[in-house]
Amino acid sequence: MSEQDTGLLYYPNVIEFVDQYFRHVLQRQVTDTNEVSWCPEWWRHSEALARFDAIWRAWEHYRLNPNTGMANWFVDHVDWHMDVLFDPAGPFRYCSGRGGHRNMLSPLPVVEPPEGLFAVDDIEPYGSVAEFVEEYICKVYRRQVTDSVDVVWCPEWWRHAEAGARMLGLWESWYFKRNQGAVGISEWFIDHADPQMRILFSPKGPFRFCSVRNGHSNYLTEHPLPMLRPPAEFMSDPGDAELEGAQGFGR
Ligand SMILES: [Zn+2]
Ligand SMILES: [Zn+2]
Repeated sequence: MSEQDTGLLYYPNVIEFVDQYFRHVLQRQVTDTNEVSWCPEWWRHSEALARFDAIWRAWEHYRLNPNTGMANWFVDHVDWHMDVLFDPAGPFRYCSGRGGHRNMLSPLPVVEPPEGLFAVDDIEPYGSVAEFVEEYICKVYRRQVTDSVDVVWCPEWWRHAEAGARMLGLWESWYFKRNQGAVGISEWFIDHADPQMRILFSPKGPFRFCSVRNGHSNYLTEHPLPMLRPPAEFMSDPGDAELEGAQGFGR
């Protein structure tokens, strides 16, 4: 049974947790620097709200462990999430300690996939991968994707086999991890969502030739990695072929 079940929460909600505790612990220079981004109204950002809620629940969980609890909380949860939130290219990109909140980042744009592309399940709150991407991922991972070259997004992400498969994985793992106790959602971000979104957002990744301004490009989706098949005898006697191959590469 988790501490949430027993009603032993130290703070009543995430707002009190950040106001009374967290902001006094993680003190950074956020007013006269471009290196660390911060928003005094962080709770206006879906991503920050989701991450701080996860940090708070993890803290409530770990504070009951007098041995490695606080150490685990920092290294396994806080530092990861704060790297994302403090990142000048992250969700607080246009906000600052001095200037306050600026409502500049919109949800990632999507073009609706054709009906029937993704299986629809009778589950709440997101009945399909497409709905999960539009209603959750795109609202949480708001990034500057129209006038920057460091983050790439394709509004027709579903045209990319890789994006479809990765989003399916995120949808499934989200449903699983949200029921995995106090640290489930934090772990979902750290182990699943952030690593996968980093690949998708990468200018070297699957959306390389797509953009929010110009839309989807077929260039990569029509060009699988090039490959030449080995001669037929390779498969009929793979043992020898492997040996030759290994020797051929400078053994
Ligand atoms: Zn803000
Ligand atoms: Zn595309």
